[in-house]
Amino acid sequence: MSAAWDYPDFDDHEGVHLYRDAASGLTAVIALHSTKLGPAAGGTRFWHYADKSDAITDALRLSRGMSYKNAMADLPLGGGKAVILADAGRTKTPAMLQAFGRAVDSLGGHYVTAEDVGMSVADMVVIAQQTRFVSGLPAVGAGVGGDPSPYTAMGIYLGIKAAVKRALGKDALKGVHVAVQGTGSVGGGLARLLAGDGALLTLADVNGARAQALADELGATCVATDGILSVEADVISPCALGAVLNAQTIPMLKAPIVAGAANNQLATDEDGSRLHARGILFAPDYVINAGGIINVALEYIGQGDRDEVERRIRRIPERLEQVWRESAETGDPAAHVADRIAQRLIGRG
Ligand code: NAD
Repeated sequence: MSAAWDYPDFDDHEGVHLYRDAASGLTAVIALHSTKLGPAAGGTRFWHYADKSDAITDALRLSRGMSYKNAMADLPLGGGKAVILADAGRTKTPAMLQAFGRAVDSLGGHYVTAEDVGMSVADMVVIAQQTRFVSGLPAVGAGVGGDPSPYTAMGIYLGIKAAVKRALGKDALKGVHVAVQGTGSVGGGLARLLAGDGALLTLADVNGARAQALADELGATCVATDGILSVEADVISPCALGAVLNAQTIPMLKAPIVAGAANNQLATDEDGSRLHARGILFAPDYVINAGGIINVALEYIGQGDRDEVERRIRRIPERLEQVWRESAETGDPAAHVADRIAQRLIGRG
């Protein structure tokens, strides 16, 4: 197996730390991409990988994404990400989480963790027994913290409104058709916000019962998961998985806008060019889906309240506008423009 710096996704990461705690069964990777703007912040993913090298690749890619996301949200934070390698049965114990907390603590605050896929607020509480470099803890009183999903959904909703204004010239979402892929925490919250504005909704989820229940609640339509990306909608909103925009799916898109929550929606850099060549307005995921990290970051920094979180989330459309404007001026794909702005912000441009 090669060293971390030989991986294709190694991007001058400041550090890649491997942990093993035999007693609890913990195997984990913590990747620090950049601390230029502050402590490297980003969640912990709990996932079963077929190969350990896939976990390292994930940590490398996701930590760079966090550098970009935090920079684009004007947060005083760098980018990092942790991955806990789950066994096939996804066994997770308090001892394992405590060992992980000690691993986080050993970095002395250069890395700050929070929830990601497979990790809950309750898990953060266990990790916090061993380290103070953790966020996403339960909100106390009117303070910030807790589940970041509603804040992420709010940012996506505002980003969709901005995209609809730019691409379709419409100030309101009434009658605008949005197809949402994935009706989980973010997709579900987003669908409710959109329905509140009178948008027409088409929904899909591998958990068909979940999508149907939401469709019944909101008067929406459900389609099969393999049909959602090619719905004749105004907006496609990927809120499930990464890499859904690729050489196979982009030619099938019929909507003029793609704006959703899923991280790493583009399978490759080329897919940003493919969307652009088709004239599709794309909201780069790490710009539009920053609502959750804004909430978690203000909790960690100990600044502000829910109003401040909302004020900052309301600035997400401004950053999207900057990306789209520069894309229109230069003729470069929005995805590439966003990368360039983010790299400049972290001093790598
Ligand atoms: P979630 O697990 O609550 O929901 C995801 C939903 O997608 C589930 O209902 C799942 O059944 C469904 N799904 C999985 N594969 C699918 C497929 N092929 N087609 C249709 N549906 C499918 O997760 P979430 O918290 O809502 O996050 C959604 C996405 O947004 C993820 O990619 C996540 O990384 C990203 N994201 C989430 C947050 C947050 O605050 N939760 C923040 C930033 C980014």
